[in-house]
Amino acid sequence: MFIFTLDFKSNKAYIATIIKALAQEHGVKLELGHSKEKLIMIMDEEDEHIERYLLALESALPASIYLSGSSHQITDEKPAFEPLLENDLPIDISLCPTCQKEMFDVSSRRYYYPFTSCNACGSQHTFLEKHPMLRENSSMKFLVPCERCQEELKSNPLRKDFPLISCIECGIAIKMVDKKSERYANDKGSYRTLFEVAARAIAKGKTVLMQTTHGYRKFFVPKPENLLKNSIMMVTEVASLNKHLMMVTQEFNALLSIERPLVRVATKSDEIKALYGSSTWVKYPDDGMSMLLAKELSNAGVSYLSYEECDEDEEADFLIDFDIPIKPQEDFKLFINQDTKLLQSGERAIFPTLLENDKNRVAIADGRASVMVDGRRIIDSVDRFSEILTTEVYIEERENITLTIENQKRFPAFKAAMLSVLAEHDKLGETAIGVHFDSRLHFLYYNKKEVIDVVPPNSFDTQNLFENISKLREGSDRLVENFKAKYPDRYKRLDNLSGEVDIFEVVAIMIGLEDESFDGISSEALSFLGKGGMLIDTKVKDNRFNDYAFLASLMSFKLSGAQNPILCYSIYESFGDYIADIVTQLSDKTKATTLTLSGATFANQSLWGRIERNMRVRNPLLNKSYPIGKESVVYGANYL
Ligand SMILES: [Zn+2]
Ligand SMILES: [Zn+2]
Repeated sequence: MFIFTLDFKSNKAYIATIIKALAQEHGVKLELGHSKEKLIMIMDEEDEHIERYLLALESALPASIYLSGSSHQITDEKPAFEPLLENDLPIDISLCPTCQKEMFDVSSRRYYYPFTSCNACGSQHTFLEKHPMLRENSSMKFLVPCERCQEELKSNPLRKDFPLISCIECGIAIKMVDKKSERYANDKGSYRTLFEVAARAIAKGKTVLMQTTHGYRKFFVPKPENLLKNSIMMVTEVASLNKHLMMVTQEFNALLSIERPLVRVATKSDEIKALYGSSTWVKYPDDGMSMLLAKELSNAGVSYLSYEECDEDEEADFLIDFDIPIKPQEDFKLFINQDTKLLQSGERAIFPTLLENDKNRVAIADGRASVMVDGRRIIDSVDRFSEILTTEVYIEERENITLTIENQKRFPAFKAAMLSVLAEHDKLGETAIGVHFDSRLHFLYYNKKEVIDVVPPNSFDTQNLFENISKLREGSDRLVENFKAKYPDRYKRLDNLSGEVDIFEVVAIMIGLEDESFDGISSEALSFLGKGGMLIDTKVKDNRFNDYAFLASLMSFKLSGAQNPILCYSIYESFGDYIADIVTQLSDKTKATTLTLSGATFANQSLWGRIERNMRVRNPLLNKSYPIGKESVVYGANYL
C-alpha cells in the first residue's frame, strides 16, 4: 500500500473534498480517513496514476492554517483510521487554486466572475437562508443554472451537485454607480472592465464602496489625513507584505491561507509606520470581489490600500453592488505568537460546525445555536435554522431570547467556555483548573462533574468609580484629587460612566488612549520596546484581583509621568504574574494537573508572552477548532 499522510488539525471538509475530487478525476482508487489530526490517504502502490495524481494534488491543495506537513510511506500494514464525517456544510473561505485559475483564465466561463466557487471553496454560507444547504434554501434560488453549468454538476468532480453553481452566463450581475453614470457587468468582458475602472478610480484617490460577499467595504488609498480608526490594511501583491510589514513565517503563511484571517502584524516601512503606527490588522484579498479589485489595483501600481467594513449607506465616490441578498459573517482574527496559533474571535471560516454529541439538547449563546438538522447536530447562527425542535434548552444567561419551551436552563458563559476546552482535548473525565479571562477574570475548578467558580471576580462598579478608589487605603483620596486636577476631562468622563463598561475601557480612558478599548491597549503595549515593565498593584488584602487597586496604581504611575506603551505593557505583565500566582496556589490545593485557558483576552502578545514564561511547564490547553473567545460557549454548553 502507498500511504500519504497530511497533518490537518481541523474537521473541516474542504481539503478532503479536493483530495477525493482529484482522485476521481485521475482514476485513482483511494481510501480516505482521519486519525489524530491527520488525513490518511491509502492507495495501491501498483496504481500507475499515483504520481500524476499527487503532482496535481500539490497544485490543487490550498495553503491552510490547519495544514502543516505531509509524509508518505509504502507498507503492507494498513494504518488504523476512522472514516471521515459526512460534512457538506456551507463554508465561507477564499478560492481554491483551481477556481482561482479559472477566474483569471480568459478562456473560461468564469473570467473575472467574482462568485466563482466549488464544493471546496468560496463564499457559500453568506447565501444560505436556512439549513440544510440546498439551492432552494439559498438566496440564489431564483437563478437558474445554464446548460453548461447543469452539465458541470455531473462532469466536474469539484462541482459535483454543487448547490451554488453559476457562471457569467447564468450568475449574479454586478453594477457600478457614480454620480453621473451606471455600468453593468453581465457578460464576458464587462466584469473585467468594471474592476479595471474601479481600480483606476481608487488609484486616483477616489473611494469605492463595494459589496463583497463579506459585506460592504469602503476601499481607498490611505493617507495620514483620511485614515479611519477601524481601517484594515489590504495588500494587493505578496511582495508588499515583506516590504512593508515585519512578519514571522507563521504570520505570512496564515495571511495567505485559504481561510484568509485578519492578523495583527508589526509594521516595517516608514511609509506604513506613518499611517498605522507600530502594528496594524492586515488582510490578503479574500472573496472574489476583493481579489479581482486587488488584481486590477496591482496592475494600476497600487500595492496596498485600506478598507473599512461599513453599511450600504456609506458615502463614497463609486458604489459597486449586486442584487442577491447575503448575510455576511463576522470576520475572524487569528492570533500568532511564535508556535502558538489561536483563533481569537469571529465566525467566518469557522462556523457552521458539526458536533458529535447525541444529546437531544439545544444550546444557545452569543447568537448561535447547536441544533439537530436531518440527524446531524449543527452549530450556526440562530437565524439559519428554520425550526428548532427539542425537549431541553440551555441558554447563556445574558442571551436576550424568550422561548416557550418548559425545560430551559440558564448558564454563565465561563462555565461552558472551560468545558469547551476540555471537550476539544478529550479531558472531560479529569479534574482541571481553569482560568477564564474576557472582560472579567475567573479562576475555575472542574471536579469531573461541574465547573465551580473558585475565585470569582470582585464586583466592579463604574458608577462609583472614584469613590471606591478613594476608600482603598490612606492617601487614596489625595491620589484621586491629583488626577482630577491634572486630567479634568478624563476625570469627568470616568465620573459619568454608566451601564456595563469593562475594566479595559476604563483604563484606556484613564491613560488617554485614542482607541478606548482592549484592542487599543494591546496595540499600545505592542509598541513598547523595552524589556521589563512596572509592577502594577493587583490586590489589596485577600487573594483576589481588585480593580480599584489596579486602577489606583495605574493612576499614580500616570501622574508620575509614565509613558503609555510601558504602562500598557505592564498591565498585561501584571495580569500574567497574578494569574500564574493563583494557578500555582490552586494546583497545590487541588492536585489537578490539567489547566485550561479561555477568553479572548489571552490573544494578546504581551499577556501571552508572560503566560508562556510563567506557565509553559503546565502545558495550558486552549480551544483548537473553536475561537478562544465567546464563540466557543455554545459548543461547551453541550457538556454542561
Ligand atoms: Zn474551488
Ligand atoms: Zn452557468
